[in-house]
Amino acid sequence: MKNEMPRLPYPINGLEPVISAETIEFHYGKHLQTYVNNLTNLSKGTEYEQKDIEDIVSAAPDGGIFNNAGQVLNHAIYFLQFTTPGQSKGPEGRLAELIARDFGNLDELKRQMEEAAIGLFGSGWAWLSLDKDGKLQISKESNAGNPLRRGHKPLLCIDVWEHAYYIDYRNRRADHVKKLWDIIDWKAVADRL
Ligand code: MN
Repeated sequence: MKNEMPRLPYPINGLEPVISAETIEFHYGKHLQTYVNNLTNLSKGTEYEQKDIEDIVSAAPDGGIFNNAGQVLNHAIYFLQFTTPGQSKGPEGRLAELIARDFGNLDELKRQMEEAAIGLFGSGWAWLSLDKDGKLQISKESNAGNPLRRGHKPLLCIDVWEHAYYIDYRNRRADHVKKLWDIIDWKAVADRL
């Protein structure tokens, strides 16, 4: 993908009551927009200016360009994985098979993702990814981390920077994380395999 704002596949209030319109206004409209703007400014005149975000995240050394590209990619994956409550259906097809093989069942995947997201110290992301051997993995990544940097395919993420939940849930990160399952678009996740 290019360095630009992803188009949301739902209205700004479409994720309520799990994520409020006000949180989308700030998280998508201000935080993500700032990462896009920062990356535009930082990459100007460098070898990264024309590169796709995935290539920057894979190759850039630690520092400002990586941090902002990571946040652009992470938030695109994050905001495009949601759907209106009630529309969320469970995993199907190959994704369902992989979950059964690698976790036993969906509840166990959810439990391990919640544990990673709730237990992550400071700001960062919990990730579900497909590793180089084709196995599903859950990981904790600090700050702008993305398992793409280790050659994995990123599939699903939980943002645990406080800006993701503080308007709606204040300090109750665990409550926020557990509610996210109501709005996961598993079809969008499966399309990333
Ligand atoms: Mn965020």
